[in-house]
Amino acid sequence: MSSTAGQVIKCKAAVAWEAGKPLVIEEVEVAPPQKMEVRLKIRFTSLCHTDVYFWEAKAQNSVFPRILGHEAAGIVESVGEGVTELAPGDHVLPVFTGECGECAHCKSEESNMCDLLRINTDRGVMINDGKTRFSINGKPIYHFLGTSTFSEYTVVHVGCVAKINPLAPLDKVCVLSCGISTGLGATLNVAKPTKGSSVAIFGLGAVGLGAAEGARLAGASRIIGIDLNSSRFEEAKKFGVTEFVNPKDYEKPVQEVIAEMTGGGVDRSVECTGNINAMISAFECVHDGWGVAVLVGVPHKDAVFKTHPMNFLNERTLKGTFFGNYKPRSDLPSVVEMYMKKELEVEKFITHEVPFAEINKAFELMLKGEGLRCIIRME
Ligand code: NAD
Ligand code: ZN
Ligand code: ZN
Repeated sequence: MSSTAGQVIKCKAAVAWEAGKPLVIEEVEVAPPQKMEVRLKIRFTSLCHTDVYFWEAKAQNSVFPRILGHEAAGIVESVGEGVTELAPGDHVLPVFTGECGECAHCKSEESNMCDLLRINTDRGVMINDGKTRFSINGKPIYHFLGTSTFSEYTVVHVGCVAKINPLAPLDKVCVLSCGISTGLGATLNVAKPTKGSSVAIFGLGAVGLGAAEGARLAGASRIIGIDLNSSRFEEAKKFGVTEFVNPKDYEKPVQEVIAEMTGGGVDRSVECTGNINAMISAFECVHDGWGVAVLVGVPHKDAVFKTHPMNFLNERTLKGTFFGNYKPRSDLPSVVEMYMKKELEVEKFITHEVPFAEINKAFELMLKGEGLRCIIRME
């Protein structure tokens, strides 16, 4: 037992007090974990675009004050009542969506949309009692995605925590807790390209390049990267992307450009932008008869997907995924093992690193479209 078990811990957390305003490092109180919860010491966290959307709160509804953050790695500090599968000292990745192990989704091989713990962007409290575990002078500070990793300590439902190989370097594998696994799984588990096929990737951030990595592992022969920011193209070459298209360079819609490049369309496409026009293009650029498009980006809250139904009748398939269809607890440890066996390179996704005190720099980099993942060091 750690000396802090059962006690309130005072620690530093980056609090988003208002939409779009820089985070403020505050001293917060973190209550002990309750039934089926664990308290984690976060060692490293990184910034995913989903954090930025809910901080900006322009395209999404959000609640404040809130502790954001969901891509991270840490160590279990203490466990609440009923937790048997985790113990203090375990190395873990918290995940924004969970796996209760009991519901119809958890029992299905096809789904990771757990009834109890699936992603819920509106909820700012723990499901056990509808309260927060964070406070400042008794005032509650809301949670985000059940993870709130921009804090030295956080409380998470046990079903949202994957226990990983203790030898895995936490400053690297933290990026596997959201973006890279999401992109990788979107390709390997959902789009499922065959050897020698063509794959279009919309959006060449960390999620899109995770998807490109999946295409490379699946043996795709053409990987076409599409981004409005041409400065992404140089970096993307390291990920096996073979051709590049910037939609801004053409008068005609990008789906027509891709159809011409590929003799009628790509075999698979994966959308990783969050932009509704890119989602529609990603669907319409797949080959009729067999093409499959997968949506990954988080859309604007008012977005509507519009396409002619003939596109479906002509035997194109549209799918979407959260977390690349990986079940967090069952599947994430094996993604970490892919990295440990050097099948998956994680280092090339990490372009920046800042100490916790400079967390706002990570937001600035993402808003400028610079780099892929910025690691935030908690100590
Ligand atoms: P990022 O900002 O690093 O990368 C997004 C890229 O898309 C940028 O390079 C940008 O220039 C490009 N882009 C934007 N609009 C475009 C357009 N219309 N056409 C072509 N390119 C365009 O973000 P990220 O962290 O890689 O995340 C990508 C998306 O995936 C976000 O929407 C994020 O919220 C979402 N996401 C979804 C899941 C999931 O489980 N479904 C998980 C993690 C992230
Ligand atoms: Zn994310
Ligand atoms: Zn479940």
